Amino acid sequence: MTIDRAQCEALDRDDPLRHCRGRFTLPDGVLYLDGNSLGALPRGVAERVGATVAEEWGRGLIRSWNSAGWYASPQRAGAKTARLIGAAAHEVTVTDAISINLFKLLVAARRMRPDRKVIVAEAGNFPSDLYVVDSVARLVGCSVRRVRAGEVAAAVDGDTAVATLSEVNFKSAERQDMAAVTAAAHAQGALILWDLAHSSGAVDVQLNRAGADFAIGCGYKFLNGGPGAPGHLFVAERHLAAVDQPLTGWFGHAEPFAFSEEFARAEGIRRMLCSTPPMLSMAAYEAALDAYDGVTMDAVEAKARAMGDLLIALFDQRLAPLGCRLESPRDGTRRGSHVSIGHDQGYAVMQALIARGVIGDFRAPDVMRFGLTPLYLGYADVFDAVAAVEDVITSKAFEAPEFQRRHAVT
Ligand SMILES: *Cc1c(COP(=O)(O)O)cnc(C)c1O
Repeated sequence: MTIDRAQCEALDRDDPLRHCRGRFTLPDGVLYLDGNSLGALPRGVAERVGATVAEEWGRGLIRSWNSAGWYASPQRAGAKTARLIGAAAHEVTVTDAISINLFKLLVAARRMRPDRKVIVAEAGNFPSDLYVVDSVARLVGCSVRRVRAGEVAAAVDGDTAVATLSEVNFKSAERQDMAAVTAAAHAQGALILWDLAHSSGAVDVQLNRAGADFAIGCGYKFLNGGPGAPGHLFVAERHLAAVDQPLTGWFGHAEPFAFSEEFARAEGIRRMLCSTPPMLSMAAYEAALDAYDGVTMDAVEAKARAMGDLLIALFDQRLAPLGCRLESPRDGTRRGSHVSIGHDQGYAVMQALIARGVIGDFRAPDVMRFGLTPLYLGYADVFDAVAAVEDVITSKAFEAPEFQRRHAVT
């Protein structure tokens, strides 16, 4: 049966997360399907950052490290993030970005498995992860075994120090079974490091239930922390005492203000810090997390899945006949919170969509990504997005020369 807009509007009326849309400011005339690359702006963030600048910095000056709670912000933000990823408050901190946190944790993992000479990595992962894995391997004297995500469990053996992969792939949105892959790695005595770039704030991540050792995640994607927001980092409690990360800056020192010339590691998750936190970005990130107040991640995941299922049903009816290819899993339990659609002219089609205010993104060579963020998108939005794709292709609007030009960021 053909799905019409009225059916989608009915789904929106019954949506338990419907009230969350009001927690964001989005420009009129924009359908924003790129929260998987840069989350939208939550209400209250601009005011919070403004107050951090004017009051805490402008008037409090250096005193604000104590009086405004700046010094404790990484742990405070970490505790707030922990709830969203199935971790305990003291196992998570907010600092640096994914690539840097990956570096710190990979070296630390290898130091915990000094007799093992292999790092297993995910072929097809976000390339920055692969670049960092290769460099760490050279640094610590390991070789890299790169396999597809579905083969990571089988590729881990008694020589493996650590395996690293994304729970949700950035391109296809394919989701791995965190508990099963973690158990397979542990059965070989290896450690596992999960990249949650496309999981945190999007799906119901359960790090501790899965027995994960380490994880890294992104602040500026589904968690809406703003461009370049600090990322988050998880160390399971059982490793907190032993973890020995290589970037031994003063913020990871037990007593940074003792100014000792010898490094003494801080107890607990604070040892994962290196440098002074970027307070304006920290303030934005912390305030942005309020958009998740009172929201459970299983509700977020359920809506993301339902929106993805709807998009795929509409794809079958309206886009498959136009030469589009589905590049994401059909099974919602194996899919994260975006749907990828291939088209030979995918770049130009996406440019034409963006010109109409339907904003998704593009990943080379031919994949259009449509991010489905449950807090600020609804079912009628999914309907409108598919209708726009259909129109851009059937009208050949994408053939206009201005849509062929490549920009630096796609
Ligand atoms: C977005 C993303 C990154 C980004 O890395 P940064 O160091 O935060 O810029 C890394 N890995 C994955 C899997 C991503 O999706």
